[in-house]
Amino acid sequence: MLPHLFRVHQVHRETVDTFTLQLDPVDERGAVSFVPGQFNMLYLPGAGEVPISVSGDPAQAKHLTHTIRSVGAVTKVMDKLKRGDLLAVRGPFGTHWPVEEAEGNDIVIIAGGLGLAPLRPAFYQVLSDREKYNKVVLLYGARTPQDLLYRHELERWRGLLDVQVEVTVDSPVGGWHGDVGVITTLIPRGHFDPARTVALVCGPEIMMRYTVMELEKREVSQNKIFVSIERNMKCATGFCGHCQLGPIFICKDGPIFRFDLVKDWLGKRDI
Ligand SMILES: Cc1cc2nc3c(=O)[nH]c(=O)nc-3n(C[C@H](O)[C@H](O)[C@H](O)COP(=O)(O)OP(=O)(O)OC[C@H]3O[C@@H](n4cnc5c(N)ncnc54)[C@H](O)[C@@H]3O)c2cc1C
Repeated sequence: MLPHLFRVHQVHRETVDTFTLQLDPVDERGAVSFVPGQFNMLYLPGAGEVPISVSGDPAQAKHLTHTIRSVGAVTKVMDKLKRGDLLAVRGPFGTHWPVEEAEGNDIVIIAGGLGLAPLRPAFYQVLSDREKYNKVVLLYGARTPQDLLYRHELERWRGLLDVQVEVTVDSPVGGWHGDVGVITTLIPRGHFDPARTVALVCGPEIMMRYTVMELEKREVSQNKIFVSIERNMKCATGFCGHCQLGPIFICKDGPIFRFDLVKDWLGKRDI
């Protein structure tokens, strides 16, 4: 529950409304270690506290990395942070992507928009343990080419000979010559064996629903599909109930869930 002070080491602008912060702990009590999929509560005095997934490399224990979209009261103030500024961090919280559990299988990572941020740590881990997996596939979709996160890394990952990386955009504005269409159009082209595939999916809820439907068409079973769910959150420790979804608390039971265990609650309003 106790926040620890961190100093902004670097701010990197990803897109017009999204930025990545690299944070250093001010003292040894600030934790930078985490497992892929976990999130922290970031607190800026005078603005407020928000849950944000860790988006950095879990093997790189020096900085804490968060990619944030500036959408409202708190994140818009965070968008003004500069190198040297302070903020407070609680965490890490929550469940993780089953990256180690998927060893020996094909692994398919499917991200929509900002969903690549919580999935990037999982992809880093898979790449660093590449020999433990069969096929590795990353499918990424954004609204426009200007909304693509981590563009230089995507280009580098695409150059790897033993990983399939496919990128699509909804609208090809600004001289895009790559794939155009929603992310589900990439799934039939994924080089994976459905019988031994674990899929990690993150993006807007509607995108996750259609992605799961398309994976099911390829006969990936629902208990091998994992999704990350977002809800408004306050305490992050299962007390306040802000993030309750039916019988579950997203903060302590999630945010990563096996799809078949949460499918009945997804898309239902006001619960
Ligand atoms: C586990 C978890 C991980 C997250 N990881 C990231 C991340 O890596 N990067 C990132 O940019 N954001 C992430 N989010 C979402 C982020 O927490 C919200 O965007 C943030 O709380 C908005 O706060 P605000 O005060 O800036 O906006 P507000 O003024 O509170 O809201 C602006 C708009 O966003 C909506 N909103 C607020 N919170 C959420 C939410 N949690 N889900 C959906 N809509 C919301 C509001 O209803 C409103 O329409 C995550 C959320 C959760 C629960």
